[in-house]
Amino acid sequence: MHHFHYVDNELYCEDTPVQRIAQEVGTPFYLYSHATLKMHFEAFDSPFRDVPHITCFSMKSNSNLAVIRLFALEGGGVDIVSGGELYRALKAEVDPGKIVFSGVGKRPEDLAYGLDSDILMFNTESSQEIERLNSIAGEMGKKARIALRVNPDVDPETHPYISTGLRENKFGIDIREAPDQYAKASKMPNLEVMGVSCHIGSQLTQVDPFVEALRKLLSLVDKLRAMDIPIRYLDLGGGLGITYDQEEPPHPTEYAEAIKKEVKGLDLTLIFEPGRVITGNAGILVTKVLYTKSTDEKNFLIVDAAMNDLIRPSLYSSYHAIQPVVKKGRRVIKADVVGPICESGDFLAKDREIDAYEPDELMAVMSAGAYGFTMSSNYNSRPRVAEVMVRGDQYHVVRERERYEDLIRGERIPDFLQ
Ligand SMILES: *Cc1c(COP(=O)(O)O)cnc(C)c1O
Repeated sequence: MHHFHYVDNELYCEDTPVQRIAQEVGTPFYLYSHATLKMHFEAFDSPFRDVPHITCFSMKSNSNLAVIRLFALEGGGVDIVSGGELYRALKAEVDPGKIVFSGVGKRPEDLAYGLDSDILMFNTESSQEIERLNSIAGEMGKKARIALRVNPDVDPETHPYISTGLRENKFGIDIREAPDQYAKASKMPNLEVMGVSCHIGSQLTQVDPFVEALRKLLSLVDKLRAMDIPIRYLDLGGGLGITYDQEEPPHPTEYAEAIKKEVKGLDLTLIFEPGRVITGNAGILVTKVLYTKSTDEKNFLIVDAAMNDLIRPSLYSSYHAIQPVVKKGRRVIKADVVGPICESGDFLAKDREIDAYEPDELMAVMSAGAYGFTMSSNYNSRPRVAEVMVRGDQYHVVRERERYEDLIRGERIPDFLQ
């Protein structure tokens, strides 16, 4: 469910015509629906209302300050994976007591920043990280609250690049080694060991792998409590999928019911780190057709957005539906939708049955609210695009389009080249 819909053949976001924004802001731009973000957050969070829990939105899917602020106002926390994300979270006034810090390679300064900010919990991913955190906390005269991110060896049945909970993946600590690691960590003076966590992958379209991972974590919790390690938090990560094309992922309510059944009466605060399921279908990328071109082999629609703006099709062969911003009832052709970047891998769609757009017409690349802007770059010295949030019949530019000056900020020519 989302608030992008047609009125008289014209695409609206809530009560605002997308074409009007394009005329005023220029293209390309990301467009987020406030009502959809809010609705998706509630749809995820409310089924857990009757159990102690924190919904820690996974910031790497969409880290715009306005988006983070919206979830903070809804009572959410965030899952961060870098010092930069912590900085953003604090700027958006997220409650530090609802911040969990994940990531396989946290730098010493990131750990210190998290300690200084008094975040809820570090999800640690290796014995060396645990030792380092203990020593940094000691130097700072603090106690670090930690969970161990364990790798439960569960197959999420998703794209290999976004599967994270298999033994072969770089993430977490092998669940078979976890009791030993917990025993060691619980003896370290500057740590408070209080949770177990996992994150098995992204874009999961079934509940079963989550339940399988949860059962493995619960049996670990039992073991740890028997070892007098008082586990109070269980963090199940993120990963719930969305519909990009034909997928039929479980509704968050179904996910919640399956999980609540397993944890009844266990005296645990649950933590979730949903990203895509909240932001994915709450955003689109609006782009303009520059040229059309046909060879003997192929039709091309050349647009002003490129892989630097939305890399998912190039990186994961992801499918994004593409819709006209104004329906003209054009005939349908088979075409590649490509950007201006000098790479053959620069495409938004391949061999797509699509309207025969003409130059200057606008396209909406759907389901682009997660891992869209956050994965964008300046490749080919392309300024990063604007981000816009619609609320009702108003729109707000929540990140300005970069200018050429922004491209060279911080660069300098040394004296010997003057
Ligand atoms: C990426 C990530 C998430 C969010 O994943 P989604 O599939 O977007 O829900 C949550 N937790 C961790 C540790 C992650 O790396």
